[in-house]
Amino acid sequence: MTGPTMRAHVLTGPGESAVREVPVPVAVPGEVVVDVERVGVCGTDVEFATGEMAYLHQGHAAYPMRLGHEWCGRVTAVGAGVDPAWLGRRVTGDTMLGDGTCRRCRRGQQHVCERRQEVGIRGGRPGALAEQLAVPASSLHPLPDAVDPVLGALVEPGGNALRAARAAAAGPGDRALVLGPGTIGLLTAMFLRAAGAEVHLLGVDPASLAFARALGFPHTWTAGTLPDLPFDAVVDASTAAALPALALERVEPGGRVVYIGLAGTPSRIDTRDLALGDVTAVGVLSASPGLAATVAAYAVGEVDPRPLVAATVGLSQVDAVLAGERPPGAGPGPKVHVDPRLP
Ligand SMILES: [Zn+2]
Repeated sequence: MTGPTMRAHVLTGPGESAVREVPVPVAVPGEVVVDVERVGVCGTDVEFATGEMAYLHQGHAAYPMRLGHEWCGRVTAVGAGVDPAWLGRRVTGDTMLGDGTCRRCRRGQQHVCERRQEVGIRGGRPGALAEQLAVPASSLHPLPDAVDPVLGALVEPGGNALRAARAAAAGPGDRALVLGPGTIGLLTAMFLRAAGAEVHLLGVDPASLAFARALGFPHTWTAGTLPDLPFDAVVDASTAAALPALALERVEPGGRVVYIGLAGTPSRIDTRDLALGDVTAVGVLSASPGLAATVAAYAVGEVDPRPLVAATVGLSQVDAVLAGERPPGAGPGPKVHVDPRLP
């Protein structure tokens, strides 16, 4: 290999990955190169590692690939046509990179562009599990100093959760139920709490429910104990195929259900329940329209999700994390972060 190289985590097939020396990215016109400070590992990454991710079977993604879409870092190079003021700035970026030309992109819906790339996920765009990352300058969001690297790498999942909480439209005097106390569920609960709602969480794992209580959410339930209370909004942030229907069953007439979780098999609802309950249902894909508001909420401490991070490891430990192992000394949170500067 000639030219400068960097360390990167490379996924070559289901269960096949390694840290390798790869060429450093170059800032092509319109793009920047970022020195990566922190990267979150999420469920989507695990699905790519196991080979289950739907995009692999739909032609939207193929091995070898570099994962990592929850990231922050510092801009160290800018390509032609990019404002040099970006140099040295701490940033995070939108995962969704629309083609910028189609009808959806022109209408501000680039996150559902048919021809979009997704950083570390779709269309061959390398992700952030590496020492450096190249992304379009147009996808960047600057981070104020108050948003440290841990928070910076939680902006992407936070943007998803903020959108889910806003779609639930629950505030003071409202009661909201979140199904699934994983990273997105807990973040959604935090944003709902910040909005003034009484938040309940439903889960299966006693440890994750205990963790939710430790975060200050006393109303935690399992399917067997869920009380018969009126819920003005129900957010499904689970991966269970039966829970979207449960959300609709348990929401108050006139209320709102929000679907942000994805099951591995079809998860059906009966639209008669929707119509007869005068219920509003909203689907949420991606953080894109919620990124700026999430940075702002973190910056002022309105929501502080840092306790969700159980451990921060180096690139060499990513394989173990993707295989579901808890890093030594990990805390109780659902999220593992990677610092590519660690060994
Ligand atoms: Zn487009």
